Amino acid sequence: MKLVIAQMKHETNTFSPVPTPLARFARGNDTPPEGDAAVAAYRGTGSAIGAFIALAEAAGASYTIPIAASAAPSGPVEDAAYEHIAGRIVEAVRGGCDAVLLDLHGAMVTRTFDDGEGELLRRIRAVAPAIPIGVALDMHTNLYDAMGEHASAIAGYHTYPHVDMHETGLRAGRAVLAQLAGKAKPTMAWGRQPMLPHVMRQGTDDAPNRELQARCREMEAQGALAASVFVGFPNADIECAGLSAVVVTDNDAALARRWCDELLERAWSARAQFVYKPEPLAQSMQRARALAADKPAGSGPIVLLDHSDNCASGGTMDTMTVLGAMLDAGLNDAAAFAIYDPQAVQRMMAAGVGAEVTLSLGGKFDMPSIHLKGEPRTVRGKVKLLCDGRHRNVGAMGRGELQTMGPSAVLEVQGIDVVVISNHVEPHDLAAFTAVGIAPQHKTFVMLKSRVHWRAGLKSLAHAVVECNGTGVCTSDYAALNHRRVRRPIYPLDSL
Ligand SMILES: [Zn+2]
Repeated sequence: MKLVIAQMKHETNTFSPVPTPLARFARGNDTPPEGDAAVAAYRGTGSAIGAFIALAEAAGASYTIPIAASAAPSGPVEDAAYEHIAGRIVEAVRGGCDAVLLDLHGAMVTRTFDDGEGELLRRIRAVAPAIPIGVALDMHTNLYDAMGEHASAIAGYHTYPHVDMHETGLRAGRAVLAQLAGKAKPTMAWGRQPMLPHVMRQGTDDAPNRELQARCREMEAQGALAASVFVGFPNADIECAGLSAVVVTDNDAALARRWCDELLERAWSARAQFVYKPEPLAQSMQRARALAADKPAGSGPIVLLDHSDNCASGGTMDTMTVLGAMLDAGLNDAAAFAIYDPQAVQRMMAAGVGAEVTLSLGGKFDMPSIHLKGEPRTVRGKVKLLCDGRHRNVGAMGRGELQTMGPSAVLEVQGIDVVVISNHVEPHDLAAFTAVGIAPQHKTFVMLKSRVHWRAGLKSLAHAVVECNGTGVCTSDYAALNHRRVRRPIYPLDSL
């Protein structure tokens, strides 16, 4: 038995000004890892591709990994990058195999294709019309029909923060291996609802997504090979953005359809709970101060979430609104993770540890899609630490995977340790802080440019959480995004 295993992961924020060339998928190298380098990067990790490797090896199958390409979210993928990645995968399939296992995101938009994953699957089908294709997808998938039409078995994460990537890979992979062994016949039904759940309301610690995902697991316990609700990624102005569901059964099309419809109906009746109402920033700062005044000694930090500029949703990670509000409010004994500003890091590297520097920090990106100009802030502070920014995740999300923040620095400004990095990395793992010598549990305030994933590795430290409505392309304000291409009517843009 010969398998082609591959990864092509990118969540595309079509409003983001951050470019997505091939180098963004390469993690510090010239191109994304292939072959043995890809195996070394992902074997034993908590990723879906790690699960495919484990399944193949346990089954004694031979396998090849033509490419493992994953990039932090950003704007539409450059055509050359897409053609390189998709080309490698299609070429490997053309070389001959019994099945394909793909670790995809599900919300990839390229300069040319609104549905990067559907286009990849279409190309694979063109060279291998009959082979089984198993696909693991992120919960933020924006599902197009092409994905359902060309894949044999689709499985999506059940958790947000995404701590079950590996289990998702196992579900997709096992369905395909069972098909190869003649023990199952994966049969899929899928569908969409006209709704755009807000990312801040999608966490699976909370209703209504907690209950939707629990029902998916129940269906799997009752015999579904995979049952998935995709809450979708609303920061993409494409026709099929929003919520969808896919159910895979063993050769029972009617049951797959019935279960899929049930999931879609449950989601639709909970649509109002997916709407997010942000608090004004000044009020958040007041609340943070009041929480600090009442905080018992020894309790963890008050976490300030700068959710409008989350790089793992395509944010530039360099808007200064929330950090600026903290500085203006005099919040100190604090850490801030992070400001993306490679130029500022270089300035600090030239100055050296211990140097006092005045910098124009952040605000390097304009955001024309939401009519915002980049606004740097002049800060004066002391360079506390310089490092290469490489570390491995220790928490449940992507455990063991290498993170590359690039050259990184800590600048102490008015009692706030501001982490400044050169690659986009969302703070969801304690290792991101230990890599820069910060113990967040001992701070009074910790600002995170994150929406939900921070919960994976940092929530247990938090005394309280304050969601701060700053600026950025992950804005909570759907009106500012001004979707033009998404299908209409759609809730909550239209009253349905
Ligand atoms: Zn996701």
